[in-house]
Order: sequence, then C-alpha cells, then structure tokens
Amino acid sequence: MTTTHQDHWARVRGRLRAEVGEDIFTSWFARMELDGLEDDTVRLSVPTRFLKSWIQSHYADRVLVCWQAEQDTVARIELAVRSSVIRTLQQKAKPAEPVTSQRDTRELPHTPVGSSNGYGHSPINGADRHASLPAAAVHEALGGSPLDARLTFDSFVVGRSNTLAHAAAKQVAAARRGEPVMFNPLYVHAGVGLGKTHLLQAITFAGNSDANRRVMYLTAERFMYGFVSALRSQTAIAFKETLRGIDVLVIDDLQFLQGKSTQAEFCHTLNALIDAGRQVVIAADRPPSDLESLDDRMRSRLAGGLVVEMGSLGEELRLEILKGRVGAARAHHPGFDVPAPVLGYIAKSVTHNGRDLEGALNRLLAHNKLTGHPVTMEMAEREVRDLIRPQEPKRVKIEDIQRIVARQYNVSRADLLSSRRTANVVRPRQVAMYLAKTLTLRSLPEIGRRFGGRDHTTVLHAVRKIENLVGNDTSLAEEIEILKRQLQD
Ligand code: ADP
Ligand code: MG
Repeated sequence: MTTTHQDHWARVRGRLRAEVGEDIFTSWFARMELDGLEDDTVRLSVPTRFLKSWIQSHYADRVLVCWQAEQDTVARIELAVRSSVIRTLQQKAKPAEPVTSQRDTRELPHTPVGSSNGYGHSPINGADRHASLPAAAVHEALGGSPLDARLTFDSFVVGRSNTLAHAAAKQVAAARRGEPVMFNPLYVHAGVGLGKTHLLQAITFAGNSDANRRVMYLTAERFMYGFVSALRSQTAIAFKETLRGIDVLVIDDLQFLQGKSTQAEFCHTLNALIDAGRQVVIAADRPPSDLESLDDRMRSRLAGGLVVEMGSLGEELRLEILKGRVGAARAHHPGFDVPAPVLGYIAKSVTHNGRDLEGALNRLLAHNKLTGHPVTMEMAEREVRDLIRPQEPKRVKIEDIQRIVARQYNVSRADLLSSRRTANVVRPRQVAMYLAKTLTLRSLPEIGRRFGGRDHTTVLHAVRKIENLVGNDTSLAEEIEILKRQLQD
C-alpha cells in the first residue's frame, strides 16, 4: 500500500466526518483502518464484529460514495474485522508480511460489495441485506446468541399447558414495526425442558423474516459478557443508536443474570427499550417475584407486562412432540421408523420434559443406525429405562411447597417466611404449612422452623384453619388439589 493510498484514506475520512458529523464519526469510524487497495477494491477493517455489522447496515453506501468522490476507479468496499492480538503477533513474527494477510483467520473473509456469499457475512449494501442473507446469519453477525434452526413455530406443538404462551409469542412475532406493543415485557416461565428456548427462538426466526424488523435473541449469559461490553465500548450515542435498531429484544434464562453492575445495565436497557415502545421478551425458570437477586423495582417492571407460565407437558403433547421429532429425523435418516405403540409407550413413560423425550428418540435412532435393527418395543424399553421416572410417589420438599405456593398466589417465597400479616400473604402461608404437614413427614416444630422460625402452635393453627376451610370452600379445595398435583407429579 502506497502513501498515496493513505493520503486518499485521510481525505475520505475527512469527507465522512463532514457528512455524518463529529459524534457519529468518532462512534463508528474512528477505529476504521485502511488495509489495502487493489484494482477497484478498497479493503477496510474495524476492531469488532459489532462495529462491522453496524457500519455495513447503516453506512456502507456513504463510505463507498466518499471513496468514489476521491477516486472514481473504486467500485467496491470490503470490510473485515481485525484482531489486534493476532495482528500484533503476526507483525512481530513476520514484519514484511503484506497487510492483507494479517487478518484474524477466525473471522470470515472479506465480502465484495453487492454480492452475497449466502451465509455468515453480509454484503455491504445497506438496505437489502436482509433479503440476500438468512435471518439467522444477520442475527449472529449482530452479536445475538446462536439459534437452532429446528426451533421454529412450525415444530412447536401447542397443547393445554402452553396455549397462552404460544399465542402471546405468535402475537409478538407477527407485530409490525412501529405498531403499539400489547404487553411489555412478555415474560414466560417454566421448568427445565418445557419449551421456553424453543418458543423464544421461534419468535426470533419468525420476527426476523420481516426485513424491516430486527429481533435479537440473547441468553442472559451472552447479555452479560457480550452485548453489554460491546455497547460499553461505544459512546452513549452509539448505545442509543443500537437500541433504536432493535425492535424486539429476547432474553433467555434470565435467572442466570448475575452481578450488580450487569443487573443495573440490564435494567437500564430494559427501561430504555420499553419506554421507546420496543418489545421485550423474557424467559426464566421462575416468576419475576422469585428472581431474588433483582431489586424490587425491576421485579415489578418485569411483572408489569404479561407473565405466562408454561406447565408440564401432558401425555398428548408429548406424543405430538415425539411424532414431530420422528418426522424431522426421517428427513436425514429415511429408514428410521418408530412404530406407534413404541411412541405411545415413550410418551406415557418418559414424563419429565422435552429434553428427555429428545434424548429417548436419539437413543433409538443411534441404536437403529449402529445395529441396523428396527426399533421395537423391547429395544425401546431397554434404551429408555433410565429416563423413566419411578412410579412411587415423589418425596415432596418443603422448599418446593413454598416455591409452588408462592408462584400460585403471586407472592415471593420471602413473603411466606416473613412476619408480614397482610391477608394476601397469610392465606398462602397457611396453605403452604398445611401442605407441608400433609405431604411430608416433617414434624410441626420442624415445619415452624422452616417457615421463618415460627412456633409449632402457629403451624398447628394453620393446618386446622385450612382443614376447616377446605370442608366448606370448594374453590379453595380445588386450589389445594391442583397444588398437590403439581407437587406430586
Ligand atoms: P427450556 O428452554 O424450557 O428448558 P427447550 O425449549 O430447550 O426447554 O425444550 C427442550 C426440548 O423439548 C427441545 O428439544 C424442544 O424442542 C422440545 N419441546 C419442548 N416443548 C415443545 C413443544 N411444545 N413442541 C415441540 N417441542 C418442544
Ligand atoms: Mg432453555
């Protein structure tokens, strides 16, 4: 690269700065470098993936126009991510190496303007980038967590336990940019393997198929370590612009969000998005009231939208999920077949969650592939034995009772253990003590101790109270039946 090239670059930068203004220039272009100029192609690089996608989607054309104003032979701009570490190492090792080979080899290669390599790298031509790239690739290039292409609405089976969550998810995915948001945030909670991630990724896929909308899916972990730091390294303007660019923010496994400053960052992001009318979708393994590490204001903000629980998968739903899975597996393994009675047997006996169902089928598939033997009932019984839950009644723990009762009555576990005497806490507390007495072998003093150090007479009083009420109040009796069932299966 000659000094003339660097001179051109300096003038192009001058033009850019004049066009976009000082603030935007320092946010986005200050760290852009010229790596080379060959024939009609200018090679530029930036230090982060995030910067690269941002520039590609918002400023690609301007950069090209500015170059052409300096040098009309330039027809294309290629933008890459450079790694400072690798660059430094390589420079030390081979000082004479031409600049173009000093790229981070983990990054994708340069892509020419206006062409599409189909996956993982967006061409630098602003407006129609969505049209020429799979949504998932755009999503990842922007820093979203990886998506599993199988987790779509098409493969999501709707049943009694997830009807509401599914309907809300559909609604969010189908909304248009700028339309008023119906419920914000949408908060879905459920135990492990009940379809939270599936639903969230389905929203992301479906939402991103609209080229005018951007849905970003992040695990809480990714949010902690990636997204926030990417934003932090930018200026405040860049931060706000980034937020403006996201229409729907989807956060999975919120219970893993940890650390004071990350939580502050999260609250800030959430508030900013909601206030700007952007949709936020959250999944966690517990309701907002049980996210003990978040502060009260945050919890109530989370609870202020639509909170939906997904229950355990019923047998029918399990059977449908299995059928869907077999169908999907057959696309790659045409010889794979699971007789209906075997499917019925698995649906009936593997009751735990969607992951176990998937695990059971994977075993059958592996066995079938490796031995060539067809899937039979006998094989199924042998292969999935350890996924089957023992039939004897489950031992119920006091923590589970407290958790499930708290969830049912929308109070926190801490409330149940506290000395508060308001009606909305007293009744759930009595119900929980009653369940502890009837479902566990714990003594009254022990139960008292586990409920915030109460006296055994208090427990006894609660148990009698509920026993009496259940006799006359059928809706309470029903509630307690439901709680018992939740605790026992
Ligand atoms: P979670 O995130 O709640 O732990 P996942 O979404 O990862 O659960 O689901 C676990 C497995 O069960 C996945 O393979 C998923 O596709 C499957 N699954 C769960 N619920 C459904 C459903 N309603 N329809 C189809 N598959 C489901
Ligand atoms: Mg999950």
